[in-house]
This record gives sequence, structure tokens and C-alpha cells, in this order.
Amino acid sequence: MVTHDLLIVGAGLAGMRSAIEASKNEGLNVAIISKLHPVRSHSGAAQGGINAALGNADEDSVESHTFDTVKGGDYLGDQKAIEIMCSEAPSNIYELERMGANFSRDEKGRIAQRPFGGAGSSRACYAADRTGHAMLHVLYEQLMKRGVMVYEEWHVVKLVVENGTVCGLIAIHLLSGKLHRIRAKAVMLATGGYGRVFYNSTNAHANTGDGMALAFRAGAELMDMEFVQFHPTTLKSTGLLISEAARGEGGYLLNSEGERFMKKYAPNAMELASRDVVSRAEQTEIDEGRGIDGCIHLDIRHLGREKILKKLPQIRDLSLKFEGADPIDVPIPVRPGAHYSMGGIKVDVNGKTNIKGLFAAGECSCVSVHGANRLGGNSLLEAVVFGRRVGASSAAYASTADLADWVDEALQDIAFDIGLLHNRLEGESYAKIRTELQKEMILNVGVYRHKDKLTLAKTKIDELKARYKDAYIQDLGKVFNTDLVEALEVENLLELAGVIVEGALARQESRGAHTRDEFPKRDDEKWMKHTVATKDKADIKLSYSEVSFTRYEPTERKY
Ligand SMILES: Cc1cc2nc3c(=O)[nH]c(=O)nc-3n(C[C@H](O)[C@H](O)[C@H](O)COP(=O)(O)OP(=O)(O)OC[C@H]3O[C@@H](n4cnc5c(N)ncnc54)[C@H](O)[C@@H]3O)c2cc1C
Repeated sequence: MVTHDLLIVGAGLAGMRSAIEASKNEGLNVAIISKLHPVRSHSGAAQGGINAALGNADEDSVESHTFDTVKGGDYLGDQKAIEIMCSEAPSNIYELERMGANFSRDEKGRIAQRPFGGAGSSRACYAADRTGHAMLHVLYEQLMKRGVMVYEEWHVVKLVVENGTVCGLIAIHLLSGKLHRIRAKAVMLATGGYGRVFYNSTNAHANTGDGMALAFRAGAELMDMEFVQFHPTTLKSTGLLISEAARGEGGYLLNSEGERFMKKYAPNAMELASRDVVSRAEQTEIDEGRGIDGCIHLDIRHLGREKILKKLPQIRDLSLKFEGADPIDVPIPVRPGAHYSMGGIKVDVNGKTNIKGLFAAGECSCVSVHGANRLGGNSLLEAVVFGRRVGASSAAYASTADLADWVDEALQDIAFDIGLLHNRLEGESYAKIRTELQKEMILNVGVYRHKDKLTLAKTKIDELKARYKDAYIQDLGKVFNTDLVEALEVENLLELAGVIVEGALARQESRGAHTRDEFPKRDDEKWMKHTVATKDKADIKLSYSEVSFTRYEPTERKY
């Protein structure tokens, strides 16, 4: 059986940054395994920017970055973790620059910075509107340079844990269709978000929260899963993202009366209030009949052709190709869409989970730096800062840990489950189950939530889970069986949807991205706590843990 000291699952920014750090330990056998080729990871789709208080565009400090993040998260973020992220941000950015990341420049030749929502200063460093792409490719070069072994296009289907200690994992080699066991002293998950639980989503089709679901089934704790970020500007027909950079550069939001309606909801920050605030405002305008065909208009015409082509070229291209609207001449029709998972696998600031030898970083984890609502530009930052930290801490663990004994039943169990999918020649189409789930989630677990809607969603998810037992796939071949992979992904979506709804039903308040119609206010007395979900056979068990405070006292959030 193949064995590694440290096996990292996922090759986005978090996974690759960890591998680079871990590979600095001479003699340590580190490998990455990824269902996608590394540079196809969703990190490459990130457009707008990555935050760091460099102070190049206007005055800024680590302290104000920390405060903006605490406030943006509606005081649910762990302040210790936020302090670490914000204070380590500048050195991490310069490090990426020195690796070769081609950030855009200001007139003095320094890294250019643009304003983003919920931020007191122009803090987002960017490479035009292709920031993630620029960073992902640089990390891939570094990975190659260091000769880290990469299992490309291997889909992980099971985490193997025995007596509370990780032993390794089981994955399908997509090229041959064979199941393989891989042992490791430590496993680090960097598998990204679950945006595809929802129908309107900015996320890649591969963002199915696999790592969270695998960890949950193996006994890990998931934290704050009810907090789902809806991005205010996603394209009407496809849900593709139009980055906050469009508003950062000066774009307006208009309703059917041509009014910049944000003045009613956030008179100071206007379009640059935090995302939860802007998405709620848009949804209210649409629900009250001031939308335009179920949308809102994002107008950047006044920025002029030259600025649009220089600073927002990808946004123009997306709008032109997918919406038929050239933003140089007409406004872009947009609406809120699922974008980011604030919750994830519960970890400490060194990426440790409650399972010995299992670590996590990036969007699949919850440290929690985003609390109840993430600020734009803080997620790429989290992936890089905690990717680096967790690369170091998991490598340190793997250097001294012993290999845990392998449990043979693990392979038989998963082979049996996959065999069922393969051998059934008729039944339910998993794709139909997926679409029904995604539509249910956007309808009843969206921007505004209510007990009745959440209860409907819970019943529907249970029904879909039962129907999934009869799901079948049409492609019975071995080589690159994407039909099989997608069916397995749907099982993960169902698992996570259940946890999101359970947490949302329980949380009787409105905080950050979680808005309950019946409980419109934040309730610090009862709900200043993290939701922790664990799996108990088919049931989801909820408990709560404390929020860590350093020096920021909760106050009412205004923009
Ligand atoms: C369109 C878009 C634009 C964004 N723009 C910004 C922005 O401007 N600024 C910002 O801060 N944030 C932005 N974000 C958020 C940010 O990009 C992500 O949160 C971040 O890049 C996540 O990085 P990651 O390394 O955790 O995961 P990802 O980059 O998603 O990588 C996940 C990896 O896990 C692997 N994987 C998953 N499941 C399995 C499995 N079962 N087996 C094997 N491998 C698996 C995948 O192959 C992939 O390599 C944006 C997100 C989107 C969707």
C-alpha cells in the first residue's frame, strides 16, 4: 500500500500553499491529491482581490483590518484567529509577490489596492480582475519546483479513521477507475466550499463540499454551517460572479425606478456595505416590486470605456458573453447568489480538528475568521495565511507521529457502496435529485429564512436522501467516469444541506448572513455562540461552543 507522511487533499490556494510549506521539512514525504488538475481549482476563478493592510492607496493598519473583519462577521468571528490572519497578511502578500505573482501596480510602482465592501480603507491587492488565477499559477510553479508528488485527478471517497486517529484515505484514480488505499500519518483537507448546494451559485460545479462531508462522516465537527454567503452581484441567467471590484471601482446598484436604493439601507457605505447587507437590500427591492425582471441593475457605464477595459476586463467579457450585455453601454442585470461557506470543519488556529492527525485549511475549514459574514478579499487571504500555518503544523505533527494501523473493512464498505451505484440499471436519476435539492435550498434556505420554510426544506432533504438510495448512473465504464463522480458528489451535497438547515432552524436570531424573518434582531445573550454539528448514525447532533474575544466588544452593526 502506498504511504505518505503527510497527504494533502485539494490543490487550490490552501492546499498548494500548505504543501509548499510542508515540503521545507527535509525528508518528510508530502503529497497532494486532487480531483481536479491543480490550476483548475476554484481559487483560480477569484476575481476581485486579496486583503492586506499595506497602506499603499490610503492610510491603513492591521488593527483596522482586524476591526473591519470582526464587525463584518457580526461579532461571531474568533478574534484571536482574526488577529493572526490580519497581522500575517502583509508578509504573506510580499512572499507571493516574490514568488512571482503579478499584482497590478499603482503609479509609484507599488502593489495597487482597491476598496472593497465593509472595509475602511482601500485594502484589496489585485491582479486586474483575475487575482486568483495569478496566485494559483504561481503556487503551482513553486509546487513543481519543489517536486511535491501530485495525484492529479484522483477523487477521494473516504477518510479512514480508527479509534479517533486518521489512518489515510480511499480514492478513485479517475483514469483507470480503480479504488486505491493510501496510508498517511497526517491528512490535511483543503477541499474548498459547497456552493453547489444551491441552484443560483457563483461556484464551480466541482464545489460540492466533499471534504466537509467526508470529515463529518468520519466523526469531525462542522461549525457554523448555517452561515452561507449570498453575493449581491451574480449574473441573471447563469449565476456567474460579477466581482465586488465593480462596485469597488465605483459601480452603482439601481432599482426599476433608477434609484440608488442602497442609500435607504446603508447611507454611509452605500454599495460598499458588507455583502449580507447589500444582498438583503436587493432581495427586499425585488420582493417589494422594484426589481427588473427578478433582478437589480449594476451600472458601471460612468466609469468609462478605458477604465473598464483596464481594471475590469473579465467582468466585461463575462457580461458580454453570458448575458449579452456590454457594461460599457448598458447596465448588468444581477441578483444575489450563493457564493461562500462561512462554516466548515472546526479547527484551531493551527488547523487541528477533533480527530488526531486530521487537519484542515481554506474554505472547507472554520477557524473562524469570517464569523457570520465574510468580507470580500478575506477568503483568498485565509487560504494563503492558514494554508501556510497548517502546512507547518501538520508537517510538524507528521514528523513525529506513528502510522496508525489500517482498517481493512474501510475499502470493502466503500467498494460495496460504489458497487451499488454501478450495478443498479434503473431507479432515480441522481441529476434530478441534485436539481430538486438545489432549487429547494435557494427557495427555502436563501437570503431570508423562516421556520416554516426551513421545515419544508428539512422534509424535502430527508425525502431526497431516501430517494438517493435508489439513484443509478448510466455510464458503467471505468475510464473517467464523471457520471459516477457526480453521483457521489450529490450524496455530499445532501449531507451538507441537512446540516445547514438543522443549524438554521435552531438559530433563532438574525446575524450576518443568517436572517430569520421571525427573529429580525441579533440576540447576543442567547446566540453569541458557535453551532457545532456532529453525525450520530443518520442523525445530526447540535451543540454550541464559545466565541473567543480579545478587545472588540459587540455593538450594533451599521454601514
Ligand atoms: C467566482 C468566485 C470568485 C471569488 N473571488 C474572490 C476574491 O476576489 N477574493 C477572495 O478573497 N475570495 C474570492 N472567492 C472565494 C475564494 O476564491 C475561495 O474561498 C478560495 O479560493 C478557496 O480556496 P481553497 O484552496 O480552500 O479551495 P479551492 O480552490 O476550491 O480548491 C479545492 C480543491 O479541493 C479539491 N477537491 C475537492 N474535493 C475533492 C475530492 N473529493 N477528492 C480530491 N480532491 C478534491 C479540488 O480538486 C481543488 O483542488 C471567490 C470565489 C468564487 C467562487
